[in-house]
Amino acid sequence: MNPYPLTPFEEALDLILQHTPRLDVEKVAFQEALGRVLAADVHAGEPLPSFRASAMDGFAVIADDPAEWREIIGEQWAGPASPLVVSLGRTVRITTGAPVPPGADAVVPVEYSEQAGGQVRFTRDVRPGDNLRPVGEDIASGQLVLPADTVIDPAGIGLLASMNRLHVPVYRRPVVAVLSTGHEIVEPGAAIAPGQIRDANRYTIMSSVVRAGGIPLSLGIVPDKEDALRIAFHQGLTQADVFISSGGVSMGERDLSRVLIEEWGTVHFGQVKQKPGRPTVFAIVDRPEFLHRRLIFGLPGFPVASLVSFENLVRPALRQMAGHTCLFRPTVKARLTHAIHRKGNRIEFQRACVEWRDGEWHATVTGLQTSGRLLSLAGANALLRLPIGAKRLEPGDIVTAIRIDQPEQ
Ligand code: AMP
Ligand code: MG
Repeated sequence: MNPYPLTPFEEALDLILQHTPRLDVEKVAFQEALGRVLAADVHAGEPLPSFRASAMDGFAVIADDPAEWREIIGEQWAGPASPLVVSLGRTVRITTGAPVPPGADAVVPVEYSEQAGGQVRFTRDVRPGDNLRPVGEDIASGQLVLPADTVIDPAGIGLLASMNRLHVPVYRRPVVAVLSTGHEIVEPGAAIAPGQIRDANRYTIMSSVVRAGGIPLSLGIVPDKEDALRIAFHQGLTQADVFISSGGVSMGERDLSRVLIEEWGTVHFGQVKQKPGRPTVFAIVDRPEFLHRRLIFGLPGFPVASLVSFENLVRPALRQMAGHTCLFRPTVKARLTHAIHRKGNRIEFQRACVEWRDGEWHATVTGLQTSGRLLSLAGANALLRLPIGAKRLEPGDIVTAIRIDQPEQ
């Protein structure tokens, strides 16, 4: 018998998030900051643009100059400012992004000019400020540009570059140790005997860790032996922020991961009222020799069960550790294209493809929904969240689909 009560899914998720710390802050080069969460406000140290810049290729002029023809006294390309000064009756040829010479208060686009013998006249009225970007038009000096908790996107990287913020404080990405357990599990590429299977979970979980913004650390495969598991647990928990094992948490005699989890941590739940992924264990490790709390997830052995548990329970925790405040994928209401029959005694996450057609979402489950059939998850873009109770769903019924291909909101 599994000694732990069946914890409702929502309660399990709450327990995890309650006990999951934000990690410490590190400084990274701005080029490395994509997708990271800022740990402090970033203010502009200088205005942008930092000089009056031309917004067009054309001529720098005094807008109220009464002269019809103006003498072209030189050129100002984008780049270092030349000593030219614009005065009445004179103009400077200028390119986009160039500093507007002193004296000038507007730029006339080249399209509205006629040139003859070193002189130019304009075919359009010009007003002060035309086609001229004043100092600080984009960003004022001291302005709050990127507030703390911002997830840095490509535009954010560009702003940091523009403002010469070479390093920024961001929350550390969690290091996640991943272990596969079981006598029957064999490394892909190695010889395999009847009764053995290749390790899928370590690879599905490590790639999911990467997608969640974490840093995976492989602990290899360990057979169902207490001393071998003990070594792996020690290695994982001393080297990583999060320890994930798969297998060995159901009710078999050889299911020893649970024993090791209990040895190391405080278990907050030992099974979840969900399908797939019922035997999912969550524990925390607070030890004086560790600078901060470690998390342990004991995931089920069946590949789909472990991946669905990862998606719904582990991924939000990894994101919270990395400082994210948006933890959940968007959901849509979708119309079933077929019937679903189920027991309905646990919340269920069926793998599906949703498709936008005729102004609404349509959901089609990806074939046989057993917890070992990875093919049900390959290419799926949604998990249908089917509540406890709904036993029979008819074609056309509306269900909630979690868009696992979309970023958290
Ligand atoms: P367990 O939870 O250890 O009883 O494993 C449940 C099922 O998942 C068994 O059929 C295992 O062979 C299978 N399984 C366990 N670990 C893995 C793994 N790393 N890769 C693929 N299948 C696994
Ligand atoms: Mg096993």
